[in-house]
Amino acid sequence: MAIATINPATGEMLKEFTPLTNEAIEQRLASAQQAFEQYRYTSFAQRAEWLNAAAQILDDRKAEFGQIMTLEMGKPIAAAVAEVEKSAWVCRYYAEHAAQFLSDLTIETDASQSFIRYQPLGVILAVMPWNFPFWQVFRFAAPALMVGNVGILKHASNVPQSALAIEEVFSKAGFPQGVFQTLLVGSDQVAQIVADDRVKAATLTGSEAAGASLASACGQQIKKVVLELGGSDPFIVLDSADLEAAVSAAVTARLINNGQSCIAAKRFIVQESIAAAFAEKMTAKFAELKVGDPMNPETNIGPLATPDILNDLEVQVQACLQQGARALIGGDRLSTSPQGNYYLPTVLTDLPPDCPAYQEEFFGPVALLFPVPDLDTAIHLANSTSFGLGASAWTQNADERDRLVNELEAGCVFINSMVKSDPRLPFGGIKRSGYGRELGVEGIREFVNIKTVWIQ
Ligand code: NAP
Repeated sequence: MAIATINPATGEMLKEFTPLTNEAIEQRLASAQQAFEQYRYTSFAQRAEWLNAAAQILDDRKAEFGQIMTLEMGKPIAAAVAEVEKSAWVCRYYAEHAAQFLSDLTIETDASQSFIRYQPLGVILAVMPWNFPFWQVFRFAAPALMVGNVGILKHASNVPQSALAIEEVFSKAGFPQGVFQTLLVGSDQVAQIVADDRVKAATLTGSEAAGASLASACGQQIKKVVLELGGSDPFIVLDSADLEAAVSAAVTARLINNGQSCIAAKRFIVQESIAAAFAEKMTAKFAELKVGDPMNPETNIGPLATPDILNDLEVQVQACLQQGARALIGGDRLSTSPQGNYYLPTVLTDLPPDCPAYQEEFFGPVALLFPVPDLDTAIHLANSTSFGLGASAWTQNADERDRLVNELEAGCVFINSMVKSDPRLPFGGIKRSGYGRELGVEGIREFVNIKTVWIQ
């Protein structure tokens, strides 16, 4: 895949980059290692000052950075600007709390003194996706840099200008040279980077295939990896729920980022008594949305990021329809814009068993509706996928709520709210959605040496 900016709204190639040569990669790894040897001894206060400066740059230049993202991957411009703001939030959050999260933890034993000390590991590789080009990187980088690690970024090949802008933010914020670098490399160059002794661990957000590939490379080298992979999150609505609130959240949760979010609600599992009303309200709201140029602030749904994503989604929807599913709305590309990767907001129902809707992730604006008779069936269906990222469930009944919290197989459960990431709370999945956590106190302790100290 070429490393290039191709406008998903028009198909126009805007800028192409040459992947780094082996010599250039070597230089950057040397620079990262050299930076680490000094940087690891900087104080929390100094790191926090630089990270707060990064947050300020993000705030000051959010319009510019938002435009880069929208140009490269097609998210609506308002959402892109909001993503820059959220990236500033995670920087400020860890700048404020890292010293506390990483302070020595005393454990009483029969030693005269025993405690845990959290220390940096060194150079950490981040392999990141295009769907939240800034947020995904900052949620890795903010805690990593506060720990005293240094970061190297292999970003997705379709967002190189976002990747370079992020490197510039850290550099302008005052972080020493080499502390955060973007490596414009293809995915075929990742294994050699992982194999380098100076790289101590890796994290990947992306597809299962990419995660398995990086995990194998890390396994060969006995290096830790954190994986944030795909999901097919359930959104369960029981008949005690506030239906209006549930439908509003369902529409946002499915269509956020043009439907290309790992934690987007994808399977809507609705109690039969309210399923028809839910479907009708959801379809009506989908019909109101404006699909079009993502640079236009009026637009709700922009193009999908690449022609491949559009094709994959089309194949999935067609397979469902051919097997007997029904589209309540959409079910096709936007025919008036053949150059852009546009897909119409779609609601599918009457989904036959064995169609792709039960097991596959639909990465676009397609809602899958599953009416169910009761709570047991809802939980069973919700858990019947290989994924386990997030789950949202809607009920006013305390017993139902407790069962959902306990029995849903997911890294997070949100009751009467859509699933969202928050710097204060750990984020990650189980099953084939990956392992390890980002954000919160758990996230900052992923790439540290948890050193046990015993003093007799
Ligand atoms: P992808 O193809 O896996 O790409 C993600 C990153 O991995 C890119 O930088 C890509 O580089 C790289 N990559 C691909 N194959 C690789 C390999 N064999 N070895 C090393 N690196 C490799 O993912 P995507 O399709 O762009 O992103 C969508 C997926 O990400 C969805 O499944 C979504 O649910 C998931 N996701 C998960 C989370 C989460 O937090 N759990 C968040 C966002 C997205 P190239 O671009 O150069 O191929």
